[in-house]
Order: sequence, then structure tokens, then C-alpha cells
Amino acid sequence: MKNTPGPSYLATPGPSVMPDAVLQAMHRPAPNIYAGELIDLTASLIPDLANVARTAGHVAIYIGNGHAAWEAALANTIALGDRVLVPATGHFGHGWAAMAEALGARPQILDFGKQSPVDAAQVEQALRDDTSHEIKAVLATHVDTSTSVRNDIAAIRAAMDSAKHPALLMVDCIASLGCDPFEMDAWGVDVMVAASQKGLMVPPGLAFVYFNDKAACIRTKMPRVSRYWDWVARANPNVFYEYFCGTAPTHHLYGLRTALDMIKAEGLEAVWARHAMLARTIWAAADVWQTGGALRLNLSEAAHRSHAVTSLSLPSPQGTQLRNWVETHMGVTLGIGLGMAEPGEDTAHGYFRFGHMGHVNGQMIMALLGAVEAGLTALNIPHGTGALQAGAAELARSAVPSG
Ligand SMILES: *Cc1c(COP(=O)(O)O)cnc(C)c1O
Repeated sequence: MKNTPGPSYLATPGPSVMPDAVLQAMHRPAPNIYAGELIDLTASLIPDLANVARTAGHVAIYIGNGHAAWEAALANTIALGDRVLVPATGHFGHGWAAMAEALGARPQILDFGKQSPVDAAQVEQALRDDTSHEIKAVLATHVDTSTSVRNDIAAIRAAMDSAKHPALLMVDCIASLGCDPFEMDAWGVDVMVAASQKGLMVPPGLAFVYFNDKAACIRTKMPRVSRYWDWVARANPNVFYEYFCGTAPTHHLYGLRTALDMIKAEGLEAVWARHAMLARTIWAAADVWQTGGALRLNLSEAAHRSHAVTSLSLPSPQGTQLRNWVETHMGVTLGIGLGMAEPGEDTAHGYFRFGHMGHVNGQMIMALLGAVEAGLTALNIPHGTGALQAGAAELARSAVPSG
């Protein structure tokens, strides 16, 4: 529990830090949902949501969280008994597979563990082995928020093409959208799912399903799609309420309008570059910490790491002790370890995560690193010295010169 005055910093990988401008945009009386500015505002969101994903495809919005986006994507494309191939690199890959199974699909999981990315060659082999094309979709996770593995989605598409397999490529970008570069059309992604509360900087409550014409065509052949999850009317409404199959998430829409304006003003590529710079700053500090103790980045290779979230570990229970210390004394809340160990397992209190998605900049990352440095010191956890200097040097090296 936080026990210090002054602002607090929620450095968890979702919900992320909400910009004041987003919160202020939401602080208003309820708007008319039958006529007036909300109608135009909602329509204006669609092209900007498409731009953030680099697609000319369709976008459906749901009142829901990331799990809702998973279910919505499956409900429109996967029928009872269909097989799906799930290359998993952490908790969330397994989560999407479990969702598919609960809906009556038959997932085939390729488990790449917790410390390595998807091996596209194994995806290709699994698809080649499926000679009768029973697999209807590959469910890939761009960034698995539990392990902080970032997968090469274009390589998975190349593997599918090389196996000449017709399955849909469906990608979970819930953690990565608006943080790590993502090119829906250029990478050949058919369906993509996202949510409002991570890189898009809006409170939890909006789920997004993006789809291309190929996926839209598959939808038309589905034997049955729940009225609520059906993306057809949502992506192409005749009347306003069809966007949301009921009352619009009024205030979230105002918040999202502001968040998308912020992304547009900064420029999507600049947003990506900022996340990359901040991630490198964290890695530079962690590299130094790891030289003098048992603290570890979950992924040894930078090329496989997300720019939105970083998973780390210490000998249990020091991870939990560190999280508690920095929250109590510094007002910084770190992410818990997720899916890295079973509760009760010896190592369960070793894992923790830094969220660095959305509305973050260099001073916040230095505050995060400084809080952790103080915690390591206060708790007598051995660590290399000079981490903050290394982080600052990375910021100095990569900060864009201005004015
Ligand atoms: C956060 C997250 C989810 C789950 O989202 P909820 O809003 O908690 O349902 C799924 N996948 C990834 C990659 C995530 O980061």
C-alpha cells in the first residue's frame, strides 16, 4: 500500500497511465446518444483506429476488455469443432487458446515456453502436417505481456504462405498496439484484437477487433454468430446503436478521441520510437543491475523483447519484496509476475514486471528506475552499480534533439 504523499505512478502493463487530457475529455455530462456530436465523434474514430494499426480494413468496437476482444474475434470466424493453431509464448497465448476451447474449438498449442519467441519454422511444419486444412486460424500473440516476448508476426505470415495454408492469421495486439511497430496490412494479418487500456491510454472498457475482407468473407459462412459479438453491423452500422449493439460507451469514446488525437499529433512512428527508446533505457539499467547480483531480465536477447513491458526476476521472495517496497515508499506500482510460476511454487515471489506503455516519457522511466534502485539498496539485494547512469546515458544518446 502506498504510504507517501505526492503523485503515484502505476507502472503496470495495463491499465496504463491515463493522460490528464483523456480524463478531462471524459469528465462531462452524459451526451445524447441519438443525435448530435457523439455520432460524428464515433465515426471519426474509425479511420484513426485503422491508422494506428496500419490497415485499410474494418474495425469493430465492443464494450469490453481484452478477453472480450478475444471472444469477439473467435465468435465471428471459428465454428464449433474447428481447429486453431496457437503458437504460445506465455500466459496470454494460452489464455486465448483456452477461450477458443471454451467456445468449442479444438486448439493445437505449440508451446515455445516463457523465454523464447515463436519459431516460425515449427508453425510452418504444423500447417504442412494439416494436409486436409482443418486448422481455420493461427492465433498469435504479438507481445505476450506475461513474458514480455515480442513475436515476429511477418515471419509467421511467411510461414503460413510457404505452407500454402489458407488459415486466418489472427493476432493479439492488446499490449503492443500504439507501442511496438505493427503493420496489419503489410504483415498479412487477417484479424487483430486490441483494447483501450494499454498503448491507447484510455481506461479499460473498449475492445477492438480489426478484420480484412478475407475474414469478413469467412464470417458470412459461419453457421451461427451471437448477435452481440457479430462484427457485421458494428463495422458498418446503419443506425448509431448498431456500432455497440446497444448504448454507446459514451465517455470512453470522448477519451479515445483525445488519445487518438495525441497519437496523431506526436506521429505514430515517433510514438514507436519513444517506446523503443524508453525500453532501451530500462534494459541499459537492468544490464548493469544484473552484473552484480541475481536480478535478471526474462529475455536475454533484446531483439525478442517488447517495447511496452519488461519481465524481470529476482530470487523469490525478493521480487514481491521489491514491489511492495517501491509501492510503499516511492509510490511506484510495478506489475506482478504473471504466468511465470504457479502460485505456491518456490519461485512465485521472484517475478515482477515494468509496464512502459502509452503515456510515458524519460523522466517517468528514470523515476521508475530510481525507485527500483532505492528498493534494491534498501532491501540489501545485491546489484551492479551505475544502473541509473546507464539509463540516463541511453536517454541522452537517443533523445531526439528539439528546437
Ligand atoms: C492485457 C492483455 C490481455 C487481456 O486483456 P484484459 O483487458 O485483461 O481482458 C490479453 N492479451 C494481452 C497480450 C494482454 O496484454
